[in-house]
Amino acid sequence: MVLSSVLGFPRIGANREIKKAVEAYWGGKATAEDLTKAAADVRKASWTNLKNRHVDLIPSGDFSLYDHVLDHSAAFNVIPRRYTGLDLSPLDVYFAMGRGRQAAGVDVPACEMKKWFDSNYHYVVPELSEQTEFKLLFNKALQEYNEAKGLGISTRPVILGPISYLVLGKAAKEAPANFQPVSLLPKLLPVYKQLLSELKAAGVDSVQVDEPVLVLDDAAKLDKQYASAFAELASVSPRIVLTTYFARLDSNINFISKLPIAGLHIDLVRAPGQLDNVLEAIKPTNIVLSLGVVSGRNIWKCDFATALKQGQKAVAALGEDRVIVATSSSLLHTPVTLASEKKLTPEQKDWFSFALEKAAEVATIAALLSGSQDSKIAAAYEANIASIAKRREFEHTSDDAVRKRVASVTSDMYNRRSPFATRKETQAKHLDLPKFPTTTIGSFPQTKEIRNARAKLGKSEITEAEYEDFIKKEIEAVVRFQEKIGLDILVHGEPERNDMVQYFGEQLNGFVFTQNGWVQSYGSRYVRPPIIVSDVSRSAPMTVRWSSYAQSLTKKPMKGMLTGPVTILNWSFPRDDVSRKLQSQQLALALRDEVIDLEKAGISVIQVDEPAIREGLPLRRADWNEYLGWAVDTFKLATAGVTDATQTHSHFCYSDFGDIFTSIQRLDADVISIEFSKSDMKLLRTFQQFGYSNQIGPGVYDIHSPRVPSEEEIKERLKTTLSIIPADLMFVNPDCGLKTRGWKETEASLSNMVAAARWARQGA
Ligand code: GLN
Ligand code: ZN
Repeated sequence: MVLSSVLGFPRIGANREIKKAVEAYWGGKATAEDLTKAAADVRKASWTNLKNRHVDLIPSGDFSLYDHVLDHSAAFNVIPRRYTGLDLSPLDVYFAMGRGRQAAGVDVPACEMKKWFDSNYHYVVPELSEQTEFKLLFNKALQEYNEAKGLGISTRPVILGPISYLVLGKAAKEAPANFQPVSLLPKLLPVYKQLLSELKAAGVDSVQVDEPVLVLDDAAKLDKQYASAFAELASVSPRIVLTTYFARLDSNINFISKLPIAGLHIDLVRAPGQLDNVLEAIKPTNIVLSLGVVSGRNIWKCDFATALKQGQKAVAALGEDRVIVATSSSLLHTPVTLASEKKLTPEQKDWFSFALEKAAEVATIAALLSGSQDSKIAAAYEANIASIAKRREFEHTSDDAVRKRVASVTSDMYNRRSPFATRKETQAKHLDLPKFPTTTIGSFPQTKEIRNARAKLGKSEITEAEYEDFIKKEIEAVVRFQEKIGLDILVHGEPERNDMVQYFGEQLNGFVFTQNGWVQSYGSRYVRPPIIVSDVSRSAPMTVRWSSYAQSLTKKPMKGMLTGPVTILNWSFPRDDVSRKLQSQQLALALRDEVIDLEKAGISVIQVDEPAIREGLPLRRADWNEYLGWAVDTFKLATAGVTDATQTHSHFCYSDFGDIFTSIQRLDADVISIEFSKSDMKLLRTFQQFGYSNQIGPGVYDIHSPRVPSEEEIKERLKTTLSIIPADLMFVNPDCGLKTRGWKETEASLSNMVAAARWARQGA
C-alpha cells in the first residue's frame, strides 16, 4: 500500500495562536504555563486535523515557538556564552537568542538570522566552535512524540539532520578564521545517537531526518561525512527517512543511495526531472521513496494527473510498499487552511489548497495509487480533474495590452541616461546632502493605533476620509519626528501599508488576497503573501499621493518608497502557468510607471526595495545566471526611467552577498542599504575588493530586536566601516525598516545614530 505523509505543518495555529501567546509572554501578560498550554493546543489541533484527513505519516517535533533550528541549538546546548549566567530560565534564554533581550540589567543582542534556503523563512544561525560542548539537554522530538501518543495519535518524529545542522551554522567569534562547523560532526554525533536511541526505545518506528543541504552543490564534498554519520546513526535509530527538498539531488544521489537509510524523500515539485535518476539509483536497494508531489511552497491545488503519473512510475519501479506520497517540503511555508477564507470567490477558492487541504491531497493521491475503491476517493479525483481543467481555462485569458507591452520593451529602457559618476554630481547639486547622509529604510513603528485604524476601515467602522485623515496625521508626526532628530533624507513612514508586498498587490491587477493566509517569516512575525493569478498591471498611481503629501510638509528630501518587482514576486505565491521572469517583467513595468510618476510629483529620492533578490537565487549554481539575468534586468526596468537628478535607492535585508556582487553592481542603484550590523568587516572588504562603485549604507544597528544601540557603539561601527568604504560613498542608516519596533526604542536608537553621524562628519 502506498502511504501518505506530511513533512511538517505550520506551527502558528489556525488563528495565529502562537503569535498571540509568545507576544503575550514577552510582554509579561502571560506566564510560561500559559504559553506551554497554547503550544500544546496548537499541536493537538494539527495532529488531529492531519489524522482526520487520513494522513498516514503525521509529523511531530516540527512544532516551534520561534524557530526549529533554534530548537535544536537549545536542545544541543549550542548556547553562546553571552546568553548564559544571566539568571534566565531556559525558555528566556531561548527567546533571548532568538530576539535579544534588554531588561532588568540584561542587555544581549539576538543571534544572527538567515534565510532558510530560498524561502522567506528565517532561521536562527547556530554559532559553533571547538569550544562548543554538545549535550542533549532535552529530547524535543521524543516529548512531542509522546504527547501525540497520549492523544492516541501515532506520529513520525522530525529532526534536522546533523550535517545540515552544522552546515547551516556558522563559526562562532572565538573560532579560528578557517574553522569549518562541519568539522564538529564527530563531536555532535553522540548527541544524535542519544536522541535517536531514545526515540527507538520509546517505540518510534521511523524518524524523518531532514538533510536539505543535500540539494546544494557543496553537498557533493560531504559524501564521506554522510556515509560515516549515517552508518553510526542507523545502528541505534528507528528507521531513518532521509528528507531533501527545494531542489534536485543531481549526482549526490550516487552516495545517498548507498546510505543505510530506510527511506528517501525527494522534491518533485521543484525538481520533477530527478525522478528517473533517483529511481534507477535506489531500485536495487530497499529504500522506500517518498515522492514530494504536493507543493509545500505554493498554494495551487495539486494537479492529480501529474502527481499520479509520477506515482505510477515509482510504483512500477519499486512496488506499492516502497512508495510514499508526500508534500514536497514542510507545509510551514503555506497558510493553515482555506476554510478560514470567506472572501475568495468560489471560483478562486477552487484554485487553491492550503496546508490542511494539501494534507487531504497527499492522502487521496496515495489512496488512488493503492487502487482504492472508495467512492469518496473517486469523487475527490473527479473533482480535482474538473477543477484543474477550469483553472487551465482561466489561465488562458491573458491581458493582451500587458503582454504586448512586455514584448515591446527596448534595451535603452534598462539603463539610466548617464553613468553613476555623472548622476552623483547632478544629484549632489540637486539634493544638497551633508557628508554621511542619514536616512532610514522606510517604515516607522506600525503601532496598535495604525493597525486598529486599518482594521476599522476594513470593517467599514470608519470612512475612507477618516482613515485618510488618520494616515496623514501619522505621516505628519513621522516627518516632524525626523526633522526634530535631524535625519537628512526623510521617509513618510509607510503607515498606510499593511505589508510591503501586500500593499502593492492590492492595488495592482492580477492579484488575489487571503484574509487569514498567514505564513511565518521569523519568530512571531508572519506575513500574508498575495497570490498572483493573472497578468499584472497598474491601473492608477499607488503611492504618489502619500509621498507628495509627506514632501509638502518638509524642505528636506522625501524618499519615495516602493517594493521592487523581484521582491513582490518572491514574497507572493506566484502563478505556475507562466515563468517567473514574465511575472517579474510585468511587475517591473507597473513599477516603472510609478517611479516616473513619483519623480513628476517632485520626489527626488526613490527607493525600490529588493530584499528578496538574494533569497530567490536558485539553490544550484548552474541555474544562477538565468535567474540573476532577469532579476537584475527587471529591477533596472523598474527604476531606470528617471532623470539623472533623481537618486535611486535600493535595500537588501541581508548581508549574504556571497556570489552576487556583480549583480548588485549591475542594478546600478545610486545608493544601496544593506543589513550589516551583525556582519563583520569581511563583507565590506569584499565590496571593496570587488570595486563596488556606487553609494552604500551599511546598516549600523539591528532592528530585529528591541535593543537600543548606544551612541558609542554606532561610532565604533562607523569608524571601522569608514576604514573600508570611501567617505564620499557612505550613507548612515539602520539595518532595515522600523515597522516591528516600538517608538521608544526607535527614538532612542535613531537619535544615537544621528549623533554618531554628526560626530563622523566632524572627524572626517
Ligand atoms: N521599506 C521597507 C520598510 O522599511 C523595507 C522593508 C524590508 O526590506 N523588508 O519596512
Ligand atoms: Zn530590510
